Amino acid sequence: MNVTELFASNVFNDEVMKNLLPKEVYKSLRKTVDEGAPLDNAIASAVANAMKDWAISKGATHYTHWFQPLTNLTAEKHDSFIEPSGDKVIMQLTGKNLIVGEPDASSFPSGGARETSAARGYTAWDPTSPAFVKEGTLYIPTVFVSYTGETLDKKAPLLKSMTALDTQTKRLLKLFGIECKKVSTTVGPEQEYFLIDEEVYLQRKDLVLTGRTLLGAPSARGQELEDHYFGSLKTRISDYMRDLDETLWSYGIYAKTKHNEVAPAQHELAPIFTTSNVAVDHNQLTMELMKKVAKKHDLVCLLHEKPFEGVNGSGKHNNWSLSTDAGLNLLDPGSNPENNTLFMLVLACVLAAVDRYQGILRASVASAGNDHRLGANEAPPAIISVYLGDQLGAIVDSIVLGKQYVPKKAVPGSIGVPESPIFPIDTTDRNRTSPFAFTGNKFEFRMLGSQASVADPNIVLNTIAAQLFSEAVETLAGAKDFAKACKDYTEKLLKKHYRIIFNYNGYGPEWEPEAERRGLLNNKTTADAVPEFFKQENIDVFVKQGVYTEREVVARAKISLENYIKTIEVEARTLIEMAKRDIYPAVNGYIAEVCSVIAAKRAVSEKIVCDADEELAQRLAMLNDGMAAAVKKLEGDLLEIPAGEGAASQKMAHVIVPDMEAVRTLSDAMEQLCSADYWPYPTYTEIMYSVK
Ligand code: ADP
Ligand code: MG
Repeated sequence: MNVTELFASNVFNDEVMKNLLPKEVYKSLRKTVDEGAPLDNAIASAVANAMKDWAISKGATHYTHWFQPLTNLTAEKHDSFIEPSGDKVIMQLTGKNLIVGEPDASSFPSGGARETSAARGYTAWDPTSPAFVKEGTLYIPTVFVSYTGETLDKKAPLLKSMTALDTQTKRLLKLFGIECKKVSTTVGPEQEYFLIDEEVYLQRKDLVLTGRTLLGAPSARGQELEDHYFGSLKTRISDYMRDLDETLWSYGIYAKTKHNEVAPAQHELAPIFTTSNVAVDHNQLTMELMKKVAKKHDLVCLLHEKPFEGVNGSGKHNNWSLSTDAGLNLLDPGSNPENNTLFMLVLACVLAAVDRYQGILRASVASAGNDHRLGANEAPPAIISVYLGDQLGAIVDSIVLGKQYVPKKAVPGSIGVPESPIFPIDTTDRNRTSPFAFTGNKFEFRMLGSQASVADPNIVLNTIAAQLFSEAVETLAGAKDFAKACKDYTEKLLKKHYRIIFNYNGYGPEWEPEAERRGLLNNKTTADAVPEFFKQENIDVFVKQGVYTEREVVARAKISLENYIKTIEVEARTLIEMAKRDIYPAVNGYIAEVCSVIAAKRAVSEKIVCDADEELAQRLAMLNDGMAAAVKKLEGDLLEIPAGEGAASQKMAHVIVPDMEAVRTLSDAMEQLCSADYWPYPTYTEIMYSVK
């Protein structure tokens, strides 16, 4: 296989457009893509025609406006290219078909941003993300808006947040005498996932209906031995990964790194970064293809944040940076960051943004699934803090605390093996426990859930950075001594927001009380995190930066709570069904068998001991009875969910979830006592070690 030929072979990318479009059309389109110039409608039909011909040559018969409604999935409605022409048909894609579509919007969540009676929603072409052909259909990336212009998707606000950051960064750069055409944010999302055998998967109702195991006693072998991480790949897994890489490459996705992760059956895929908008589209497509390719290998790809209790969950690391079209990365400290006024100012602004808006940054990654990672029994905590590393940490300390800063240069190192080469040792080590870590020339936001769209946190990141940049511009513009004004402002921001920096172990027990002392937020559940979006100062930042209207912010927060409530309802109902219909009768069946053993022994002779049998029957009967009572309580509480997202989500977080935990604890205890012949579901061992 020739990878360079395969790469992007399904994509209507720049090279294809250059070849197929008339010169003027191509130039005009490039201007829109590169500089954000408004799309010239006149070129639409030429582009549409070329796109259609190209798609047909790739085997396409249909096209779809591909969009990202307020679920974490993508949506598509396929139309064929056919148009009647006499007795025959011709294949057509008009300019209008390319630019706008009108799917019925009434069944997508809108959080009150659109009345159901006013179902009209429009999709509009996003020329900044390339179209592609998949399974016989031309996919046209689009934004999704209501009849009244409210955004109903995740792409429109992402694009608006990128525009806001572009605008404000250019203003800031101008003060430094740097002119550029465009500033783009870049994202590289590292994606974690589990792979299990399909046959085992289908026997677990909870996995099928909710994506995670709602019960299951721990396997005798979890991740204690730490031997899975970076371990050699099993053949079935490496075959899958190879197939997946090739599929992703054909769609122009820069799949780069793959390896085993910490938990058994857990793996990771990391692409090379690209502009945020394309990175988000690519990540959506990646998640979809990960599942599809798995099916071909009789595997199931679990993208849930916590498929199994007691071993690591899955997240996404959102590597985020911003750079100019000339290639200047604003988060690159250079070799003398202490004297790099622009970098230090940008750094201070980002720190200030993360501190001031920590509530919405946390809320942007909140979901029922992610609640099992952030702030739950296992690390990481739900507190936002920033890791700067030794070098920047020391510079910031020198500014804030007046400590002397001794520049630390990358020194040539050797690993002490004579044959091994000399290599420069990085100026900072890595800290894997920080939710927001500086990693050389970018920040790595590590709180994202594995199945969520990466759009949400990037919308927030771009918006809050834009806000702080605009404040810097307003303060510094017209300063008499610009360099001094910059330094003073940087110092002021760093002093004010110093509390957000935490360079130590974020998973350690000391951090939570310390964070509380610093006044940092620690919203452990979605129900507690999302209401941050309702605070006026948080609404204001979106409105000021032109990313959301007030109504849109509120609508989205409500949808996020609604999703949370519904997810937990489905989980609770699934658990009830499993407990009542499968586990309770199975355990009773086993108790009956144990009792008949006791009776049989007694019938033969009083001398045959039955102590263990009696103890077992008694213990199981008590546990099963206890579970029935716990299920009853859960059912009762489910009947009393109050109206309104606020109250309902609180009830879910603080009553229903603990109720479910109670059922699980009893069930898991029984699983460990019940005969394997009777237990109705594959165990953790059978699931996590299902791929041979
Ligand atoms: P790890 O975090 O596993 O050590 P790296 O730090 O090498 O891995 O890279 C992780 C991700 O960060 C990759 O997807 C990479 O493409 C991305 N990345 C590198 N530079 C940037 C940048 N300037 N902007 C955004 N993402 C970047
Ligand atoms: Mg990482």
